[in-house]
Amino acid sequence: LEVIASVEPRVANAISSELADQRASLKLIASENYASPAVLLTMGNWFSDKYAEGTVGHRFYAGCQNVDTVEALAAEHARELFGAPYAYVQPHSGIDANLVAFWAVLATRVESPALERAGVRHVNDLTDADWTTLRRALGDQRMLGMSLDAGGHLTHGFRPNISGKMFAQSSYGTDPGTGLLDYDAVRARAREFRPLILMAGYSAYPRRVDFAKMREIADEVGATLVVDMAHFAGLVAGKLFTGDFDPVPHAHVVTSTSHKSLRGPRGGFVLAQPEYADAVDRGCPMVLGGPLPHVMAAKAVAFAEARRPEFAGYARAVADNAKTLAEGLSRRGATLVTGGTDNHLVLIDVTSFGLTGRQAESALLDAGIVTNRNAVPADPNGAWYTSGVRIGTPALTSRGFGADDFDRVGELITDVLSATTPTATRDGSASKAKYVIDEGLADKTRAAAAEL
Ligand code: PLP
Repeated sequence: LEVIASVEPRVANAISSELADQRASLKLIASENYASPAVLLTMGNWFSDKYAEGTVGHRFYAGCQNVDTVEALAAEHARELFGAPYAYVQPHSGIDANLVAFWAVLATRVESPALERAGVRHVNDLTDADWTTLRRALGDQRMLGMSLDAGGHLTHGFRPNISGKMFAQSSYGTDPGTGLLDYDAVRARAREFRPLILMAGYSAYPRRVDFAKMREIADEVGATLVVDMAHFAGLVAGKLFTGDFDPVPHAHVVTSTSHKSLRGPRGGFVLAQPEYADAVDRGCPMVLGGPLPHVMAAKAVAFAEARRPEFAGYARAVADNAKTLAEGLSRRGATLVTGGTDNHLVLIDVTSFGLTGRQAESALLDAGIVTNRNAVPADPNGAWYTSGVRIGTPALTSRGFGADDFDRVGELITDVLSATTPTATRDGSASKAKYVIDEGLADKTRAAAAEL
């Protein structure tokens, strides 16, 4: 820190404050974690100065032998960890991984057949007329994914994201009675919509997904099944989601982040069945420029950590802790979407406390509990104010929290929500975020959170 402070002390201060804040509060954001010192150190070194466009052994820059070593190692660890035939570790983030996957599907299923029909090997060799036809065909494809309010992600075809501009999109939701995925309804929607890509995976669905069933549906309608396991990759790596619930043997392409439940550096990666591997391998230059060698090195370290037997214990504890938390919250009167959890997250419908998600998120933060507001299915408060708070166990489980700790966390959360009063109704325009929290209780909770 002294070295950083000698150049820009405000950055050094912000780093110290971040450490203090993360230590003093309860980090319950479902997409966050604590990477190990080995992973953090692997990111802060000379690899960050290297350019390495291309792939292992096939670079557009000289002097990439050490980058080749770490990229090959990261890919090998990823293949072994997930039992995948092919892994691509260059994407800088989850959104990049999804873009690589989407273009790989388009290249394999739309572009390659068009080149074959035209009798050429490369797009540059197409006539202008054929190129115009191909571009139209590429822009005329469909994606079916989980709706945002049911827990899907923006990158699964939604309009504010580039995926929604690339594809005509339709979505499947969850059963209004149970909050659970209704596979018959997904099948019916897929039959009607005939997507090129069937997306599975989520950011805020508190249950496992049956990927064997999703593959059956994809096969029936001729779709490519892409599973975005960004949130639950750690539970797949830890062999908690196996058989029908393991996306890797069922999906054509799997995308992920490396930094959520998997506890690696911030980044993304793609796993693919052999028929999509060549196209995924062209992620650079299709979607990406130079990879981040320091982050690929840290992915190799994180994947190696996840291959150790202890990681299975961690994954089991993440899910057990989420169950304990869900039970504790329910016992104390909270309403949970789907009634509970079988992964790493719990979604509380905070309208039973008379609050919007935004009010609940802010009140919890006042009390040293860091969560994020989230839409619930058919959310009456929309995507900004929302009616839910999403709570995840990966980070605090990394800190060693067990069942008793998570029961106490549930108690602190329900105490805060019960002691919070909205000062405006949902329709109160600008004052929608206003609330009053019992200050004494907020102080007490902050102290308890720092002590845990
Ligand atoms: N996919 C899912 C399911 C996610 O939850 C997220 C992030 O929250 C992403 C993709 C995007 O990841 P990133 O923020 O690394 O781009």
